[in-house]
Amino acid sequence: MSTLTTRTTCPYCGVGCGVNAVVENGAVSVAGDAAHPSNLGSLCSKGTALADTVGLDGRLLHPVVDGRRASWDDALDEVATRFGEIIAEHGPDAVAFYVSGQLLTEDYYVANKLMKGYIGSANIDTNSRLCMSSAVAGHKRAFGEDVVPGCYEDLEVADLVVLVGSNTAWCHPVVYQRIVAAQENDPNKKLVVIDPRRTATAEGADLHLPLAPGTDVHLFNGLLAFLAEHGFDGDLPGAQDAVAEARRMGGVAAVAAACGVGVETVQAFFELFAQTERTVTVFSQGVNQSSAGTDKVNAIINCHLLTDRIGKPGACPFSITGQPNAMGGREVGGLSSTLAGHMGFDAAERVQRFWRSPAIAHEPGLKAVELFEAIESGRVKAVWIMATNPLVSLPDADRAKRALDACEFVAVSDCMRHTDTVDRAHVLLPAAAWAEKSGTVTNSERIISRQRDFLPMPGEAKPDWWIVCEVARRMGFGAGFDFHSAAAIFREHAALTAYENDGERVLNLEGLADLSDADYDTLEPLRWPVYTIEALRAAGAMPARQDSRRLFGDGIYPTEDGKARLVAVTPRGPANPVSEQWPLALNTGRVRDHWHTMTRTAKSARLSAHIPEPFVEVHPDDAKRYGVIDGALATVSTALAEAHVRVIVTAGQREGALFVPMHWNDQFAAKARVGALANPAVCPISGEPEFKHTPAAIAPFEAA
Ligand code: SF4
Repeated sequence: MSTLTTRTTCPYCGVGCGVNAVVENGAVSVAGDAAHPSNLGSLCSKGTALADTVGLDGRLLHPVVDGRRASWDDALDEVATRFGEIIAEHGPDAVAFYVSGQLLTEDYYVANKLMKGYIGSANIDTNSRLCMSSAVAGHKRAFGEDVVPGCYEDLEVADLVVLVGSNTAWCHPVVYQRIVAAQENDPNKKLVVIDPRRTATAEGADLHLPLAPGTDVHLFNGLLAFLAEHGFDGDLPGAQDAVAEARRMGGVAAVAAACGVGVETVQAFFELFAQTERTVTVFSQGVNQSSAGTDKVNAIINCHLLTDRIGKPGACPFSITGQPNAMGGREVGGLSSTLAGHMGFDAAERVQRFWRSPAIAHEPGLKAVELFEAIESGRVKAVWIMATNPLVSLPDADRAKRALDACEFVAVSDCMRHTDTVDRAHVLLPAAAWAEKSGTVTNSERIISRQRDFLPMPGEAKPDWWIVCEVARRMGFGAGFDFHSAAAIFREHAALTAYENDGERVLNLEGLADLSDADYDTLEPLRWPVYTIEALRAAGAMPARQDSRRLFGDGIYPTEDGKARLVAVTPRGPANPVSEQWPLALNTGRVRDHWHTMTRTAKSARLSAHIPEPFVEVHPDDAKRYGVIDGALATVSTALAEAHVRVIVTAGQREGALFVPMHWNDQFAAKARVGALANPAVCPISGEPEFKHTPAAIAPFEAA
């Protein structure tokens, strides 16, 4: 009898829980890792069922070229040749990579290096654009850098936790468990939930503000004006303008009317916030996925900056990320709008010098929605999609489908043999899956954890970083991609973040740049920044920076003058308002037990049993108005497409709004791809799509 226990991390949400994976006589089981600081041994339903998802059914086990099994050499040569030909004929911006928060940091690093430093285009974007790019842009405007300043412990220490646009109980369950446990131990602690829906999270709140969709800036501008009236008068840059703009909202009654929430409820929230020094405001997709997403983020951060509630125990604004390695992707430049190591394009020469690369992108590239528009128009002629299924997850997903159908060359790296996206590839590259991968991820509280392999790679599957390096070599870039392990890539990534006396960035991993392979293998979870003593001295040896749990407690920010900024933001409605033809606001989101496009969680019977089919939540008055019945099928339609889903009539849904989960696709249920319904309006600053508001209609389902 043989038993092997491996410490790794959960591949689902951005909580980043530590997992002990046990292989006993070939059978896999999992348990929470009590030594991991983020989950302290807990796992949610998805994490607990991870062992159900590691089987080989549906796996892509060998390369495929034009529908036929191929050797690795032939498949890699084909990708390198087709990309090379198109670049030679049309230039570097005629190609693109579309990557994923499911990739490990090392995979992400080499993909970004190849596109930005060797091909010379910034046309690499990630599906994280769809869930948290507004937070990235908001952080940069306020702090000068994309930094989450707090940690999960702050949620336990806080006397007030405000959850905005976040069904934390279902989408980040272990963080929610930590909040609830702390509040149960201290009845004086309060939980406020701000969400148009009465979600499972709202059910547990002391106060729920079911605000009208898209009115977050109205609410937080109202709060900022209220705080200014009640003695908070921070003198940070931008404070006067932000408060002056906020005062245009009028008093509490005007704010309540704009948000569609009772005056007493808004008053109670404002008073609670004003009176509670230790306040953490957590925000997620309900804030980010909006055509005003970046402004919403800054409206929240403004309230923390004005009250100086940042960088202290139990006090900070806290962006919680959707995917397991959305943060790692941000760190290595997986977004088309940044370079690597949190550097902007003004640092292009420095990055090129470090990489000794033949080229460097000098301008931001195409963001996710633009990228697929460019493919459809023929401006981008070759795309390599890694570890994501954009034909289900993008807004206006049918357009993305048309784009791939028309694209000259599509390569896909994936671990599944069939997905909506995989089925359109000219070349398929079999990638290792969670249980077989080795590298690092960074979670929402900046903790870097090792993800470790505990099963052998099946068939001919290979790590994503290896596939990228092999294509790079075949494109003639061998010198920059001579990596023989994930550890070697991590060391280079860490070295690139080193302090260089050219303006300090908080993302600093210099202390990890010389990790040995053995130290990398046994690396315990640790939070960035990880300075060396030398780097601390060079940066002025700021003592607060040595405790990485909380940042900016010293009042020093990575901006030119070292100060944070409040940003004056003007409330505005969704890009596409409801109309007579499309009278309802369609909202999309997650359910508790499925992950993204269900390629893994659908393998688990116990996860599928929680909610077995796609549904639409409808308010009782809307159900009556549009003639749909609880438990019957309905057709939800928008200007773009329609979906057939089961009706749930619930007073927890706001009148005038619908909710449909994002997970199901044509593979699992006929006509249920909600991505196809969602409008592709984006935030003009972050490029994040407005998944939370598409004008829609509902009617009883009629068979054709
Ligand atoms: Fe995995 Fe997130 Fe659940 Fe933790 S909370 S077990 S990271 S899905």
